[in-house]
Amino acid sequence: MPAKSLKVLFVASECYPLIKTGGLADVVGALPRALTALGVDVTVMLPGFPDVLSGLSEKSTLAKVHSDHGGNGKLVKGVTCSGVNIIALDLPDLFNISGNPYQEASGADRANNHTRYAVFSRIAADLARGEIGRKTYDIVHAHDWQGALVPAFLKTEPDHDVKTVLTIHNLAFQGLFPKAIFGSLGLPGIFYSPSGLEYWDKVSYLKGGIAYSDHVTTVSPSYALEIQSDDGGMGFGGMLRAKSHALSGILNGVDLDVWNPETDEDIFYSFAASDIKGKAKNKTALQKSLGLRVDAKAPLFCVISRLTTQKGLDLLANMTDFLVLEGAQLALLGSGDNAIEQAFLDAAKKHPTEISVTIGYNEPLAHKLQAGSDAIFIPSRFEPCGLTQLCAMRYGTVPVVGRVGGLNDTIIDANPMALTDGVATGVHFHPIDGHNLYAAIARTLSLYRDGKVWSKLVDNCFEQSVGWESSAKAYLALYRGLVN
Ligand code: ADP
Repeated sequence: MPAKSLKVLFVASECYPLIKTGGLADVVGALPRALTALGVDVTVMLPGFPDVLSGLSEKSTLAKVHSDHGGNGKLVKGVTCSGVNIIALDLPDLFNISGNPYQEASGADRANNHTRYAVFSRIAADLARGEIGRKTYDIVHAHDWQGALVPAFLKTEPDHDVKTVLTIHNLAFQGLFPKAIFGSLGLPGIFYSPSGLEYWDKVSYLKGGIAYSDHVTTVSPSYALEIQSDDGGMGFGGMLRAKSHALSGILNGVDLDVWNPETDEDIFYSFAASDIKGKAKNKTALQKSLGLRVDAKAPLFCVISRLTTQKGLDLLANMTDFLVLEGAQLALLGSGDNAIEQAFLDAAKKHPTEISVTIGYNEPLAHKLQAGSDAIFIPSRFEPCGLTQLCAMRYGTVPVVGRVGGLNDTIIDANPMALTDGVATGVHFHPIDGHNLYAAIARTLSLYRDGKVWSKLVDNCFEQSVGWESSAKAYLALYRGLVN
């Protein structure tokens, strides 16, 4: 089948720039554009949150919809400012919420998440097979637990040819709910079984997606292996091993238009790859703006992350005195676990000219940190792909990473062999613990102090291709294989 006739419906809860809590949004915002460039007809279905509806242009109503659990509403067609085709499910009873799409301001999960994303997936399934609207799709590409029921709903409908792909962006988020909600899903009773949605006496939407999709992908080859192990499988290892014939890892990329130091309007001074002086100007401006001691020679590390134990930032919080003692600086942006936030805030209070901490979500500051820092910490305990290391390399910022998942697949450790061969792009450590992080910091500082070695590392980072082109081709090959 020629690429241009392939019709693909993405089903996801986030899409940059409309709504974003993490890397999922980046992928759903960028991959459709890369697929469109290959001739694929891609539409993204999103929940009709206020930010989604207000961010669309060329809006029109595709169809009126009704759900017993979600009330009356409509499907709204529109386009993002970056040209991605969207269908938003405007059901005010379910989606007229602002802030984090899954959690209350307190951090607790929203009470009716199970209804919200079940109704979303049910209507997506009906849209894909042409029951709503006039178009039928060749492929539904569902993302994470919020879209994972689409393959299950499609399995209950006999008259369609829609193939399904589920991408797991993070196996830790399993869409787990009490078994009492199963009856409200409208799925046959047999779907509540150990080979279906049942998981230790609960319902898991993600498990349903794994069970009933034609193919499962995850976002890096290493993570695809890790999730089939008992340690990395988070309870789903056996099931994923059984699905290994239809499971693969395709690396994420970044949107090269959004993350481009030459055109980035969020950074202090635009600069070309390999323009070390341009990067140095951003470092000085960043130090000034954050109230850090202005010192071109002080190694400046950044963190841009959810502050969670997954990201290993509890380990880094114990290293702040060591960093300062070594003459290094830290600029952190993120939010998450209270204890981790507090530990970094305490460190900034103790070392106000060396450590800057910004709690919150701030897209422009994330760009400034990437442009102005020498290195970025990503000490994750597990990392499905990770995007910040890819953005970092684009801005000549050297990643210091836990050797797990996509971090392992995208960063080449500066060990003696890689340094001799001139191919290193960062620093790895493993196993993920405080001792090894400490050693990785010490090693990074000694690389930094050898100016020639460090500039080669920075050059290598600039040279990496971190866009979507090759991964979009891999998705296209997967879609074609399923359709044929
Ligand atoms: P996650 O596990 O959170 O999805 P990724 O590395 O895959 O981690 O993607 C994180 C994305 O969110 C990146 O684009 C990063 O720049 C962005 N990000 C994370 N935290 C913040 C923050 N506090 N402010 C702005 N952007 C952030």
